[in-house]
Amino acid sequence: MSKCKTCLKDSSKHNKKLWIEHNWCPLCQKNSKDHSDKLWQMHQQAVVKGANGKKIRPITVGFARSSVGWVKEWNMPVSTSGQGSPYRIEIIPIYQYCTQCSLAMGDIEVDNADVLDGLCLKCFAEYTEQTDSLNDKIPNYRSYEYCKKIRQRMEMR
Ligand SMILES: [Zn+2]
Ligand SMILES: [Zn+2]
Ligand SMILES: [Zn+2]
Repeated sequence: MSKCKTCLKDSSKHNKKLWIEHNWCPLCQKNSKDHSDKLWQMHQQAVVKGANGKKIRPITVGFARSSVGWVKEWNMPVSTSGQGSPYRIEIIPIYQYCTQCSLAMGDIEVDNADVLDGLCLKCFAEYTEQTDSLNDKIPNYRSYEYCKKIRQRMEMR
């Protein structure tokens, strides 16, 4: 038995399809149980905000992991033969943005947005003024190199 993070009802109140719909995060492509409550809220908000009421679709950009984008429909002149769709569809990727500098966040920042308080690593480092704490807070911190770079930059000041 587990509680749904979307409608807050028990898993038994869902069929399989609805459960996946309610508990699969389109932003980071993970299950709701891989999120803290706060992180889940942040990711869902980022998607809702990014989609702005439009349809969403899965998307993969370059070498990045799969994420989500909103569907932009371009009005195209209908061809005289009446063939083909009148629309051209483009999928615009949705990102979570740093609450401080408004830059799009990377995978690590998105995954740890609850710990980082919605900040990107750069802003977080500046905010806390010590990047060492990152390693304590995020045990399997993947981007050690990035962290080191921030530290060097800060030491140069
Ligand atoms: Zn639900
Ligand atoms: Zn997520
Ligand atoms: Zn930032």
